[in-house]
Amino acid sequence: MIKTLLIILTINTFIFANINIAVSILPQKTFVKAIGGDKVSIELMVLPGNSPHNYDPKPSQMKNIANASLYFAIGVEFENVWLSKFSNLNKSMKIIDLTQGIEKIAISSHSHEHNHHNEKHEKSSAKDPHIWTSPSNVKIIAKNIYDALIKADSPNKDYYRQNYNIFMKNIENTDANLKSILSNSNGSKFMVFHPSWGYFARDYNLVQMPIELDGKSPKPRELIELIKEAREEKVTAIFTQPEFSDATAKVMANELKIDVIKVSPLSPKWSENLINIANAIAGQK
Ligand code: ZN
Repeated sequence: MIKTLLIILTINTFIFANINIAVSILPQKTFVKAIGGDKVSIELMVLPGNSPHNYDPKPSQMKNIANASLYFAIGVEFENVWLSKFSNLNKSMKIIDLTQGIEKIAISSHSHEHNHHNEKHEKSSAKDPHIWTSPSNVKIIAKNIYDALIKADSPNKDYYRQNYNIFMKNIENTDANLKSILSNSNGSKFMVFHPSWGYFARDYNLVQMPIELDGKSPKPRELIELIKEAREEKVTAIFTQPEFSDATAKVMANELKIDVIKVSPLSPKWSENLINIANAIAGQK
């Protein structure tokens, strides 16, 4: 009896087509895997260690795009350049916008005014693409993924539903953990090289202070000003991410005698990653 059941279950996973899905960044792979389980295979475009702001896919990745039936877009810069090329390559591939229903905020820039405003500076009202650093956003992303999967593979609706419910609980637990870790950190300021944590900061009443200015390291004069600002604001740690140079952060940290903490918003361990950064922020007093 059990044996027959096992055989039926094994056959079933072959009867129902696997969905081939392409995604831009690693956290998406985590989210899609959580809901799609073994019914999906996922092609990651921006490979680990690279920045989704300026990634060029490899020829082998372009080839794999031809086998994808869905592309989950998350609004990173890389997609502005490449999505249309992917579409041309695979006309039957459906592009699903995972940012649907998410309200984007302006990307944070230096809080102080610079007296040399140029054209690039005015662009700092651009929207922040790093939406996945907020559990409340990830809930919306998860719902968008779930909706697309049940549409693409309705016979496995119950399977996706079950995984989706588990994942939603996981997100809620992460959120509750973050709230408790950060319960005494209201208004805490943390310095970052690249402003990846805007939505995280918004959700937990924190202030993100970016070092990078319009995608560039600060000039010596700006650096002096930043160090002054960090001292005034009593910043006690600087976060950098492996996708960017931490040379400037190291200079600053050395000057301020504080720590540089490397943490990537592109980590596949999405939940643990947020808990780690919260602990680092809560630990600085
Ligand atoms: Zn970024």
